[in-house]
Amino acid sequence: MEFVSINKLTLLDYPEKVACVLYTPSCNFACPYCHNWETLIQERLAPLSFEDILSFLKKRLGVLDGVVISGGEPTLMDDLPEKIKKIKELGYLVKLDTNGSNPEMLKELIDKKLIDYVAMDIKHSPSKYYDVIKNKSISFDIIKESIEILMENKIDYEFRITLIKEYHDIDSIYEIGKLLEGSKKLFLQEYKLSDGVHDKSLNEVDEKTAEKYADILSQYIDLVELRGYE
Ligand code: SF4
Repeated sequence: MEFVSINKLTLLDYPEKVACVLYTPSCNFACPYCHNWETLIQERLAPLSFEDILSFLKKRLGVLDGVVISGGEPTLMDDLPEKIKKIKELGYLVKLDTNGSNPEMLKELIDKKLIDYVAMDIKHSPSKYYDVIKNKSISFDIIKESIEILMENKIDYEFRITLIKEYHDIDSIYEIGKLLEGSKKLFLQEYKLSDGVHDKSLNEVDEKTAEKYADILSQYIDLVELRGYE
């Protein structure tokens, strides 16, 4: 598997850093509200040459601070650790976006100091996780393991939830609070409909309700903030 797309400059995807984003194809979740749906089906398109990516990164040294590895689900790329190693050797910070379905690789990347920041999606409360991800072959224990790895605090991290009116309610928010109890940072992201979204019937949670959810979650998590509502 190779990267299929690149965003050459972003001020939004890596907290407080100037970065580029590399996208992997395919994902094992297929969330109905995924914005990267088009990217997920690009696996059959011509991949980007990793050598070209490294050349681009060499030229951007001093301009970019970091590289965000996103997708799709990046940990489906078998040689991701080797590729990240080459990016790190150039001197870049690396952030990983993940759905938490590969705790083994997540642990390896952290233990080998190949990543500097992780953003892990939390899709729903444990009892309703499969309302979103559909793929029942992925045990929730695996997701929980990834959460626990991040909560060991060996690396800077954030959890993030895209709030969907049709999925999330007060009960599920309390359940999520208990799941993430003692964690450092959670962002409640506003859902925004775009052309790439598969299920266009889903809706965002309004700001007032999102603030109420943030208040509840603040009882469990050190820092809870809304993202995208401004
Ligand atoms: S986990 Fe992320 S990339 Fe994968 S389908 Fe869901 S939203 Fe899309």
